[in-house]
Amino acid sequence: MADQDKFKKVVAHAKEYGYVFQSSEIYDGLSAVYDYGQNGVELKKNIREFWWQAMVQMNNNIVGLDAAILMHPTTWKASGHVDAFNDPLIDNKDSKKRYRADVLIEDYVAKIEAKIEKEINKAAKRFGDAFDKAEFLATNERVVQYKEKGDAILKRMGQSLEKEDLADVKALIEELEIACPLTGSRNWTEVKQFNLMFGTKLGASAENAMDLYLRPETAQGIFVNFLNVQKSGRMKIPFGIAQTGKAFRNEIVARQFIFRMREFEQMEMQFFVRPGEELKWYESWKEKRLKWHLALGLGADNYRFHDHDKLAHYANAAADIEFKFPFGFKELEGIHSRTDFDLSSHQEFSGKKLQYFDPELGENYVPYVVETSIGLDRMFLAVFSNSLQDEILEDGSTRTVLKLPAVLAPVKAAILPLVKKDGLPEVAKQIMADLKFDFTLTYDEKDAIGRRYRRQDANGTPFCITVDHDTLKDNTVTIRYRDSMKQDRVNIADLKDIISKEVSPKYWLEKC
Ligand code: ATP
Repeated sequence: MADQDKFKKVVAHAKEYGYVFQSSEIYDGLSAVYDYGQNGVELKKNIREFWWQAMVQMNNNIVGLDAAILMHPTTWKASGHVDAFNDPLIDNKDSKKRYRADVLIEDYVAKIEAKIEKEINKAAKRFGDAFDKAEFLATNERVVQYKEKGDAILKRMGQSLEKEDLADVKALIEELEIACPLTGSRNWTEVKQFNLMFGTKLGASAENAMDLYLRPETAQGIFVNFLNVQKSGRMKIPFGIAQTGKAFRNEIVARQFIFRMREFEQMEMQFFVRPGEELKWYESWKEKRLKWHLALGLGADNYRFHDHDKLAHYANAAADIEFKFPFGFKELEGIHSRTDFDLSSHQEFSGKKLQYFDPELGENYVPYVVETSIGLDRMFLAVFSNSLQDEILEDGSTRTVLKLPAVLAPVKAAILPLVKKDGLPEVAKQIMADLKFDFTLTYDEKDAIGRRYRRQDANGTPFCITVDHDTLKDNTVTIRYRDSMKQDRVNIADLKDIISKEVSPKYWLEKC
């Protein structure tokens, strides 16, 4: 399937199966805001839970927090968001369309990367088993040139953004002859900075109202609570605070479905360490977070690190874990070494000490911070788009199957009486009544069994349990596995163990 078609299919499937709906759809929707349907809410909850278990439950030096979305406005002065949370925007004078200048350039580089990928595929076909990808990348002249060109463009863009040299960002767009993707026009305005925070007001009367912001990241709620948690939890450095919750950004160009939203959810963890030890922890968290992703089995080739050339004002090292979405490799998670920037700044703006007494060193200091920050909705899109597959079966027919990792699947098993009579529905409902304490289940007695299997495949349900006439005689049922379509005859009494083995978080967390 072409990438564009695949992406359209992902969006359509997400709607058809109750995963994601456009917000306020009956009013023609609200741009870049989405609602999660009956299956989406479960998948999202399971991803959040899997992250929480890996971060908080598995690490006895990481604890959770749930800070409010609304925070004192000085928070955002101290964090730098009022002055520096900007994206460079550029308008096309002919099409009147607005773009993020850096995204236009990154998309240009993505096209160069696609050419490299094409060369790799061609060579892999030509050389067969003898193909050595690493050697090819290092020695093929055309590929080396492409790579150098892409790297040089990103480097120049990074440096110009860092120096706030927006004229050079525009010059780069012109030199690369980047055109408006919609119309092909190259008639661009100057590049300007645009602040992404949403403003709101607190208070009943207009005169006394206080200007607030909806938080653009969850991290600041952790920083301002650093001492509360450290003292009340008697935490010793190194330790972490984890949080999941909504964040809001008035994105300039919000497209690509739930990849870039104006209201989204983040899962962030700030790890507080001794000054000077931050880069060691940064490396260790990069590795740990990649392992978490790989544990879900979406394919190691779909991930890569991207080390930042342009560092945010608070960071001394930063990398993204990029994922191969249907529209190419894009950031899924950020890992940042944030130095002591945030705590020091909050200390200065609030006038309250935010320091830690290290008993081993016998001294006070402002801890350094390593952050891991992942968008829950982006993770949802990664899992969902990767899992959606069209398979050609032996008889030549196609089945659409959503191969979600079983631990994340919204519904773990479907209970299906073969026919709607002869007492089979009653037995099926009894099985549901017994298993519903352990798993989310669904019941379906409509249509032929084959069609019901296909419906569950497309829904991502890992197991189908069919009750038939033999069940009445010997208490056995058929269990069908979504991915292999294999069917086994098993005792009703064994169902719980069989399902548990594959959906239990333990099985998946042990791989992290
Ligand atoms: P991008 O470069 O894509 O705008 P960012 O570098 O601004 O992202 P961070 O501020 O590092 O993103 O946020 C951490 C994570 O939050 C990102 O890796 C991403 O998964 C998620 N995220 C950020 N912005 C959005 C958004 N508008 N919609 C959905 N998820 C987002």
